[in-house]
Amino acid sequence: MAHRVTFEPSRSLMEFRLLPRLTTVEAAVDRVCLEIPLVWAREGQREIRLKIPLVAAAMQSVSGPAMGIELAKLGGAAFIYCSQAIDSQVEMIAKIKSHKAGFVKPLTVSPTTTVHQIETIKPDKGFSTFPVVSEDNVFLGLITQRDYDPQAHGHLRVIERMTPREKLEVAVNVTDLKEAHARLVESHQSVLPIVDEADRLSYLVFRKDAQDQVNNPNEVVDDKRRLLAVAAINTHDYKERVAALVASEVDAVAIDSSDGHSVHQQETLKWIQGNCPGLPVIGGNIITEDGFDYLVEAGAQAVKVGMGGGSICITQEQKGTGRGLATALMEVCEARDRYFQEKKRYIPIIADGGVTTSKDVVVALALGADYVMMGRYFARMEESPTEKVQINNHIMKPYWGEGAARARQWSGSRYYHAAFFEGVEGFVEYAGKLRDNLDEMLSKIKAAMSSCGCRTIQDFHERTELELVTPYAIREGQVHDVLQPGRETVGALRKWTS
Ligand code: IMP
Repeated sequence: MAHRVTFEPSRSLMEFRLLPRLTTVEAAVDRVCLEIPLVWAREGQREIRLKIPLVAAAMQSVSGPAMGIELAKLGGAAFIYCSQAIDSQVEMIAKIKSHKAGFVKPLTVSPTTTVHQIETIKPDKGFSTFPVVSEDNVFLGLITQRDYDPQAHGHLRVIERMTPREKLEVAVNVTDLKEAHARLVESHQSVLPIVDEADRLSYLVFRKDAQDQVNNPNEVVDDKRRLLAVAAINTHDYKERVAALVASEVDAVAIDSSDGHSVHQQETLKWIQGNCPGLPVIGGNIITEDGFDYLVEAGAQAVKVGMGGGSICITQEQKGTGRGLATALMEVCEARDRYFQEKKRYIPIIADGGVTTSKDVVVALALGADYVMMGRYFARMEESPTEKVQINNHIMKPYWGEGAARARQWSGSRYYHAAFFEGVEGFVEYAGKLRDNLDEMLSKIKAAMSSCGCRTIQDFHERTELELVTPYAIREGQVHDVLQPGRETVGALRKWTS
C-alpha cells in the first residue's frame, strides 16, 4: 500500500475563474502596479525588482541574448539556458550586460594620443567615439571617425583633429535621461558629454540609447544602469559555471531541474551560499510543501513551482510524476506564507509550465505566484533564438523541450542522464515582435487585477477570491452557438434576396 493516496483531484489553472470585487479609484487599470521582487535579497545583496511578472523559460528555443535584452528592457527577464558550453552561456550574459542603458562610462584618450593609435583600438573596443580628457579628467573635446582621414591624419595628435569642447553642447551634472535626450535633440549632436561642476567628464549619453530608455520606462537595470541578466545553471558543472558567470557579472542564477527536491540541488545551493554569498539563487522545480521547505532551508531565495505541465512536456506520461499547477501553487504558496510569518523572509514563487494565456497568468498570480515563467509564449516571438519556417501558409517557429532529443544532444543538459525523453519537439505559430505582443498581455493582467479591486500583486494574493468551474461553465465562457467569420466562410457570404 502506498504511504498516502489522495482522492482530492489535482487542479489545473484552467479550472479556476476570479470573482470580481469593487473596482476602486486606487485600483483603476492605469494605477495597477505589476512590480515584484525577483528573489528575497540576503543581507548585503542588492534588491532586484522585476517591473512585470513574466520571465522567459531557460530553454534553447526560448532564451538567448536577444530575448534577454528585449525582455529586460520591457521589465522582465529571460533566464539564459544552461544546456550549452559554459563559454557560450557567459558570452550571452556578457552581451546582455554590455547593452548600454543610457549613461555610459566612456573610454577616454589623452590629447597626445595619435589618430593612428585611435584606429588601432577602435576594432578592439567596437566603438568609434572617444572623449579627450586632460590628466585630471577635465573634458577637452571629442574625437570620432568623422574628424579625420586615417591615411592623411594618422600621424597627428587627437588634439589637432578633435572637435573641441567650446564647439560642443555639454551638460553639467545631468542625471535625468529625459533631460539628456531633450538636450541632444536641441544640440543636433548624436552624443552628449556630461561633466561635473569642475568640468571633469562623468558620462556620455548617446542619442540612440537615450531614446531607447525614454521608450522603455520599465527597463530593469543594475546600479551601473546595465540590463538585468539571469542565467540557468545545473547541478553537475555548477562550480565552474557559477564561477564563470559571476566573473561575467550575472545578476542572479536559477537552478534548472525538472525535479528540484533532491540532495544535488541542496549541495548546489549550499555551495553557492558558501562560495558566492553575493549571488542570488533561485531553486526548483518543486510541487510540494516539503520540497519548498527543503530548498529554502538549503538557501533558495525564490522557488520555481511546477512539474509535468509544460506544453512540450511528457514527464507525466513517461514517469507518472507531476501535479496540476494550481494545486501545487496553493500548497507551496501556503508554505511560503507560513515561512514568512515565522522568519519574516518573503520567498517569491514562480509558476512554471503550462502557463500559456493571460487567464492562466492571472489565475497563477491570484493563487499566490509572484511571477510566471513561460516557454511556449516567448518561443513564438521574433526575439527567440530560432529561425522562422513556413508550414501550410502559416509562419511558425520551432519549439522543443530541454528533455527532447534535440536539446539533449548537449551532454550537460538537464535530462541527459535519463535513458528516455521527457520532452518533445514541435512548432508554434509566429507572433511577431515581443514588444507588440506584451502590451496586450499586460493590459489583460492589469484589467483582471483592477476588476478584483487590487492595485498590487500583494493585494491580489491577499484579497482575490477564486472559484472552481465545471467544463460546462468553461464552455459557457467561450464563444458558442454563433458562426464566426473564418476561412470556410470567405467567399460564401452573399446578401440574401428572397
Ligand atoms: P510552457 O510555458 O508550457 O511551454 O512550459 C515551459 C516549461 O516547461 C519550462 O520552463 C520548464 O520548466 C519545462 N520544460 C522545459 N523543457 C521540458 C521538457 O523537455 N520536459 C518537461 N518539461 C520541460
